[in-house]
Amino acid sequence: MSVKATTQIYGIFGHPVKHSLSPNMHNSAFQTLGLDSVYVAFDIEPENIGEATNAIRTMGIKGINITIPHKQTIIPYLDEVSPDAKLTGAVNTVKNEGGKLTGFNTDVGGFLRAIREDLGFNPEGKTLFLVGAGGAARAVMSACCMNSISVIYITDILKDKAQTLANDFKENFPDIDITALSIEDKSILAEKLSGADILVNASPAGMDGEGKPDIPIPSLNKNAVVYDLVYKPPDTNLLNEVRELGHKASGGLSMLLYQGAESFEIWTGETAPVDVMKKSFG
Ligand code: NAP
Repeated sequence: MSVKATTQIYGIFGHPVKHSLSPNMHNSAFQTLGLDSVYVAFDIEPENIGEATNAIRTMGIKGINITIPHKQTIIPYLDEVSPDAKLTGAVNTVKNEGGKLTGFNTDVGGFLRAIREDLGFNPEGKTLFLVGAGGAARAVMSACCMNSISVIYITDILKDKAQTLANDFKENFPDIDITALSIEDKSILAEKLSGADILVNASPAGMDGEGKPDIPIPSLNKNAVVYDLVYKPPDTNLLNEVRELGHKASGGLSMLLYQGAESFEIWTGETAPVDVMKKSFG
């Protein structure tokens, strides 16, 4: 790839950001399609997100991914926010059209495509057991609620956070039965796991091979599928345990890939070369 005076700039705002797999993923896609574009990582301190967002306009940057800790704080600096991003309360993709900045949330579609393609799972009429109530959990909630899930149980190390998430979505989806559970009450967790169709880990438990969600996993309904948003390592302790118990299960690399593919398509209007992007993970 040669960077020229005409090269269009894309990138990611995060802090820290040096671990990001997105530059590899998007640069391999640009190269494959022969696009005169480059994708770089920008480490933006939390207090500088407004200034950095204005710089997207000033510098004519075409598109930006947004990661921790800016997914919520960037919203006031944008001109428009898509319905998915509004519902989720977070933006992970910004498109610059002649200085007008629009925010999207492709984690929502990325999660949905991952559970459909990896696990053959369709949320309609089903029961979700969700661990974690942070930003990623909000994207999982949006994907499931917009696709007619029936019942959701949420647990988090902070019960208040799970309750706030439940309340936020109950307001928009009064027909969906959404309940926050205390992670301390193992007998209730076991009862609800036994009726779940899908278990999703949207907490960092299991990152870098350490730990797993503190829930009674053997109580999970034997027909349930499992999706772990954690992608480092690809085979988390949770995935290893549920696979041994006979569950179909998948890890977060596919969601990362599909959210990236959707961002790429929003920016370029081209079909993302998903196979090449996947290979870029190594
Ligand atoms: P976040 O906003 O910090 O939210 C995580 C939530 O989980 C917090 O409420 C946290 O509580 C809670 N938590 C921490 N440890 C827990 C445990 N052992 N059991 C239950 N709850 C626990 O983080 P996030 O952005 O949502 O990300 C969560 C995970 O998803 C990360 O591992 C991230 O890498 C992954 N992720 C993957 C993708 C993908 O494309 N595959 C996309 C986004 C995120 P505290 O606030 O008290 O810590």
